[in-house]
Amino acid sequence: MFKGICIEKTDTGQAVSRKTLSVSDLPEGDVLVDVSWTTLNYKDALAVSGKSPIVKRYPMVPGIDFAGVVAESENPSYHKGDAVVLTGWGVGEKHWGGWAEKARVDGSWLVPLPDGLSSRQAMAIGTAGFTAMLCVMTLEAQGVTPDKGEILVTGAAGGVGSVATALLARNGYRVAALTGRPEEEDYIKRLGARRIVDRERYAEAGRPLEKGLWAGAVDVVGGKVLANVLASMDYGGVVASCGLAGGMDLHTTVAPFILRGVTLAGVDSVMCERVRRMVAWQRLAQELDLRLLDEMVEEVPFGRILEVAPKMLEGRIRGRVVVSMS
Ligand code: NDP
Repeated sequence: MFKGICIEKTDTGQAVSRKTLSVSDLPEGDVLVDVSWTTLNYKDALAVSGKSPIVKRYPMVPGIDFAGVVAESENPSYHKGDAVVLTGWGVGEKHWGGWAEKARVDGSWLVPLPDGLSSRQAMAIGTAGFTAMLCVMTLEAQGVTPDKGEILVTGAAGGVGSVATALLARNGYRVAALTGRPEEEDYIKRLGARRIVDRERYAEAGRPLEKGLWAGAVDVVGGKVLANVLASMDYGGVVASCGLAGGMDLHTTVAPFILRGVTLAGVDSVMCERVRRMVAWQRLAQELDLRLLDEMVEEVPFGRILEVAPKMLEGRIRGRVVVSMS
């Protein structure tokens, strides 16, 4: 028997509670993992809130990522005792996730714990940090080099934004950080941002084209902020769009695309193919300053995760939340 959190369907919506589960409750899969660390991601906070249709099947153990040790394996790539990490693949949405002491999954979804990272550090990075790396790789692949100009990171005090800021600065980019939390200026600058942009400047619908300021952007906010980011891209600029913390809608014009050759590049971490996944994790292990990662992380015991989740939807979490299962 082991502990976990479960989302169940009710007549009025859903109910979330702590449960005692057994291995026979777990879904199909060829690898059983003892989960040692998990995290709280924006999508998890949405899943437990019931405000968005994240959960596709009930009952569901949420938790879109975890790190742990293989307990049993019928998959030739993994053996008992291997340290592994999982992000994405619909885990915590349609397949039971990481908010339990054990998880049974398809071995092809796992990656070996990258050399140089502990399980705790891997989850301090988590889906948010992994996505930040994918955003950096997207800008690079589109030819955005540090000499091209400044890069704007939105939602900079949050999980994706914090890691993106640190990675871009480490790789020689000049980072401008858009935030609604001026009180986090020192923190964001310690991560490597050169200057802060007030979120209010991008909060309301602006003109189709504004002064071209940014060679690249990592956007986690969507909505009006993304529309304004697009309008403010410099000629040939690239926006890596990965989030919707400020809204799912996007009301914009074609002006940035047809007059400035701007590229809007989507970034998805869930179905990201394996080779790209491995490259991203290796690069995170090598390029992310682990002292800065420590500074981004708040550790929360498993018993408090449901209490902390709503703060994330209110934009009140700084950096990343890592959850200890012990
Ligand atoms: P966090 O909650 O840690 O950070 C989001 C940040 O966005 C906040 O800290 C805040 O930054 C800003 N923000 C929040 N609400 C608003 C608002 N209403 N208007 C403008 N800015 C706002 O979340 P994550 O960083 O973990 O995730 C960010 C987004 O990326 C989410 O939408 C998430 O679903 C998405 N995501 C997508 C993935 C993918 O595969 N595409 C994977 C991982 C995440 P500040 O206080 O600095 O302004």
